[in-house]
Amino acid sequence: MIKHDFHIHTEFSYDSRIKGKELLQRAIELGYQEIAITEHLDLLPQEVKLYGLPSLRKYNAYIDALRLEFQEITLHKGIELGDYHHVKEYADTIIQGYDLYPILGSVHFLSDQINVAIPMPCELNPAQVRDYYEQNLELVSTCNIDVLAHLGVFKRYYNTPPDEREHESLIREIFRVMIQKGIALEINFSSLYKPYQRCLPEPYYLELFQKMGGTKIVYGSDAHRIENFGITLQKWHIQ
Ligand SMILES: [Zn+2]
Ligand SMILES: [Zn+2]
Repeated sequence: MIKHDFHIHTEFSYDSRIKGKELLQRAIELGYQEIAITEHLDLLPQEVKLYGLPSLRKYNAYIDALRLEFQEITLHKGIELGDYHHVKEYADTIIQGYDLYPILGSVHFLSDQINVAIPMPCELNPAQVRDYYEQNLELVSTCNIDVLAHLGVFKRYYNTPPDEREHESLIREIFRVMIQKGIALEINFSSLYKPYQRCLPEPYYLELFQKMGGTKIVYGSDAHRIENFGITLQKWHIQ
């Protein structure tokens, strides 16, 4: 597999401190051949109210300028579409004509409005975990995404892996739909620099995906700070 990272946030994301130029310089220094900037596109009403709508026209120009300056690396103009299945029609009209690749699909909010991508006061109960995976199933079933991002993100702030056996049939169903639709599974490194200290999903699920016939797998650092880009790959000896 060529050295790549398909999930990086830069200054266009409201929560990232990475400058586009420093990312490209660092990626080239570290020998990456292919990277994707995947800024947040969060379109739930409460998110639009908080963060506003990013301008995809400006994003286009931003990526074009970086491509021109750093021609020795393949730079993709991607997007992380949060909770796409809840805002499908709205999102489709916004991204239409922008030629975004990869489109990462990710679930951040449960039905009860809990954001599972930020530190939570306690671990989720089994009904919430089921809801989380059901949302992922709906996402992969109803949306045209290239990659399913950070499956199991709610575990990032856990210290040990929970028993998820009761949800395995649901996870298998997510994988079945992904394989049928050609959606790649992301191995997300963000939990390596958080308490969980494991990739998401964990190697067990990666093996399950592969046993079921899944071949499309991509790595994503999900970096929001430059020190979280690249280092994890080296530190964890994952190439
Ligand atoms: Zn995310
Ligand atoms: Zn992300």
